[in-house]
Amino acid sequence: MSLPQFKLLRPRSVAEALEHLGKYAGSVRVLAGGTDIIPSMRQKLFEPEYVLDLRAVVEIRGIKPQPDGGAEIGALTTIRTIERSEFLREQYAVLTEAASTVASPVLRNMGTIGGNICLDTRCLWYNQSLTWRKGCGFCIKKDGDLCHVAPGGTKCWAVFSGDTPPALLCLNAEIEIASAGGVRRLPLADFYTGLGDNYRRLQPSELVTRVFLPASSAGYRGVYRKLRVRGSIDYPLAGVAVVMKRSNGHVADARIGITAVNPAPLLVKGASELLAGKAVDEALAEDVGDLAAKISKPLTTSALTPEYRREMIRVFTKRAVLAAAQAHEN
Ligand SMILES: Cc1cc2nc3c(=O)[nH]c(=O)nc-3n(C[C@H](O)[C@H](O)[C@H](O)COP(=O)(O)OP(=O)(O)OC[C@H]3O[C@@H](n4cnc5c(N)ncnc54)[C@H](O)[C@@H]3O)c2cc1C
Ligand code: SF4
Repeated sequence: MSLPQFKLLRPRSVAEALEHLGKYAGSVRVLAGGTDIIPSMRQKLFEPEYVLDLRAVVEIRGIKPQPDGGAEIGALTTIRTIERSEFLREQYAVLTEAASTVASPVLRNMGTIGGNICLDTRCLWYNQSLTWRKGCGFCIKKDGDLCHVAPGGTKCWAVFSGDTPPALLCLNAEIEIASAGGVRRLPLADFYTGLGDNYRRLQPSELVTRVFLPASSAGYRGVYRKLRVRGSIDYPLAGVAVVMKRSNGHVADARIGITAVNPAPLLVKGASELLAGKAVDEALAEDVGDLAAKISKPLTTSALTPEYRREMIRVFTKRAVLAAAQAHEN
């Protein structure tokens, strides 16, 4: 499948990139590592007039520990850099573990944290060639007006399938979004809409520039568990991130994030309250697993049955909670 024709813009600074985005908003797509957008362009899911290649914008590449104990990560930092960061492994282990499961080593060398956060939602009826989609009459997410997954409805249920966002949600991460008009900062949890088509709150003239990890989330034990068909390369079909802090054998604080079973990565509401002040045992971990399964709404957007993926959220959550508690004892 060939790439559609486009004009390439190669800014060398954030200011230059934002100028291009402001000027060509609506007819430009951002390329960071290109590991997701290039295959999508080959499938003619995007046919922009301009591609804004960010790879020469060095000022938003790298991890900066902050004086208060938190961290700032440039949006162009590769997944590999995050996976290999000793600082992040010590302070924000759940993020390095999730990063280490993204795709394959080659794709982690190219792919960026900004691209992982902004990753397009996926569906078996959408991530296909133009000919394939045309043969099926297209769908709501691109060029059509019906949903093959939930016929009769008007909503797109394409699933968010990034690995690092559930870990970032557990860490209460915030992101910086910049445009020619200025900069805004918001909790990552507010970035996703929960819709499969318009899945993120980002204007065409805006760029995700930085990720902030608060000092208050440093030092938590973290675990990430992921279901995929091929262990060496695949997107998650279900994913669970857990962070936990314990004191005197009891949970002082904990958060759980899930991915690949809804149109957005989500924090499991009520999990922190359920775990707080308790000693973790099988029964408690199972209750938390039930809670996570309850908010998982997988449909036939992906390989494997929705029932199995939901069940694996339950099982992985239980195992991850037990493993996070265990990690504290070692
Ligand atoms: C075979 C294969 C397997 C994969 N497996 C996984 C997996 O297991 N887990 C997983 O999480 N991902 C997986 N991916 C997807 C992808 O490799 C990663 O998500 C990667 O982190 C994307 O980053 P990127 O820089 O390459 O994004 P790009 O492809 O450059 O961009 C992705 C999207 O984000 C937008 N974007 C990128 N950066 C910014 C920014 N700074 N501001 C605003 N918009 C931006 C782009 O316009 C585009 O819409 C896989 C991809 C392939 C091809
Ligand atoms: S969930 Fe429905 S509308 Fe969305 S991509 Fe899949 S088939 Fe298309």
